[in-house]
Amino acid sequence: MVDTASSVDEHKSLMDDPGQRGRFGRFGGLYVPETLVPACQELEHAFRDAWSDPSFRAELDELLGNYAGRPSPMTECRNLSAELGMRVLLKREDLNHTGSHKINNVLGQTLLAKRMGKTRIVAETGAGQHGVATATAAAFFGQDCVVYMGEVDVRRQALNVFRMRLLGAEVRSALSGSRTLKDAVNEAMRDWVSSVESTYYCLGSVMGPHPYPWMVREFHRVLGQEAFDQCRELLDGGVPDVVVAAVGGGSNAIGIFSGFVDTEAELVGVEPAGGSAVGRGLVGVVHGSMSYLMQDEYGQVQEAQSVSAGLDYPGVGPEHAHLADIGRARYEPVTDREVLDAFELLARTEGIIPALEPAHGLAWMVRCRDELAGKTVLLNLSGRGDKDVAQVQAILDGDPEALETVDFGEAGNGHQ
Ligand SMILES: *Cc1c(COP(=O)(O)O)cnc(C)c1O
Repeated sequence: MVDTASSVDEHKSLMDDPGQRGRFGRFGGLYVPETLVPACQELEHAFRDAWSDPSFRAELDELLGNYAGRPSPMTECRNLSAELGMRVLLKREDLNHTGSHKINNVLGQTLLAKRMGKTRIVAETGAGQHGVATATAAAFFGQDCVVYMGEVDVRRQALNVFRMRLLGAEVRSALSGSRTLKDAVNEAMRDWVSSVESTYYCLGSVMGPHPYPWMVREFHRVLGQEAFDQCRELLDGGVPDVVVAAVGGGSNAIGIFSGFVDTEAELVGVEPAGGSAVGRGLVGVVHGSMSYLMQDEYGQVQEAQSVSAGLDYPGVGPEHAHLADIGRARYEPVTDREVLDAFELLARTEGIIPALEPAHGLAWMVRCRDELAGKTVLLNLSGRGDKDVAQVQAILDGDPEALETVDFGEAGNGHQ
């Protein structure tokens, strides 16, 4: 195996193999207790082997087509384009099975688990969307599934807990720390290390120790490749001026960026103002890798705060930190108020109710409509909004409890 992390080759993609050390510039790596190192190495070997095996790729492609519903369409938004004065294209990941991009990664990882002879899947979930996607794939493959979820989130996301149970998964409350997503990640890792012979840890975004950020990116490449091909067709061989995606951990963004990173297109990741890890620009280690991270002056990890539970992650995937560092992508914060307006705007103009996460991307486009005038802008519509309509209704009705989840503060200036 060759460590390509530091080799310079002009013909290589900006999104290449991060090598055995799993480095994206100064970010990434493998910062885990010694007991977890062999498990991560076993996983890296298994993934390298599978990813270079045409039969694995063919089986995954078949599942993505006939189970998940790929390829997802690209929609040209004529009404919204007229309203905003730019040409808006949407990559429709909302139309996948389970309603978001998450199924791409989860089918890849559970198929890999099967190939590795692992019969039990563990996962972490915050808002519940990754847990539901993992429980779905585990049901499909007949695997046992345990999903760790912070106790606070178990109460907040009762419907997704019920969905996971319907799908045959066991949901375990994480009772440590702040009893939210970061605690669920810790408990899932603890479970994995204590039962690694039979257990596979299905991580939900481009974060965690090597090889996860790289592997999860590879499983989401399909959406970027499709979008690239669809744009070439629609734009007479061209690419959009700007590609926009919401960033939580960063998996849907890295997926769509992967299709355009080696082109002229500008790449923009949009973070919630209350969870702007790149915007604060502080480097730290959490959950096994080095990246930008929300932390206080003592290095303690801070809770992210956003109307969208799916973006409530204090860190960002290490490859995004690197793309920000080298200036290839920029990361911009938007406020919850802007997001709610964008959510309504897409529903009203195009008949598409988006998830609150991709509504962040649209919110940035609305704010920057002058800068973007006349340009072609591709937004990754990472998920559908069915999961969010009850919450938005409560907020618009002025329900005090729902309003508590909304941060009406002003967005700061973006980093890069
Ligand atoms: C989970 C989720 C996200 C955030 O996760 P990333 O890894 O940043 O993509 C964004 N959009 C939707 C619809 C999600 O379900």
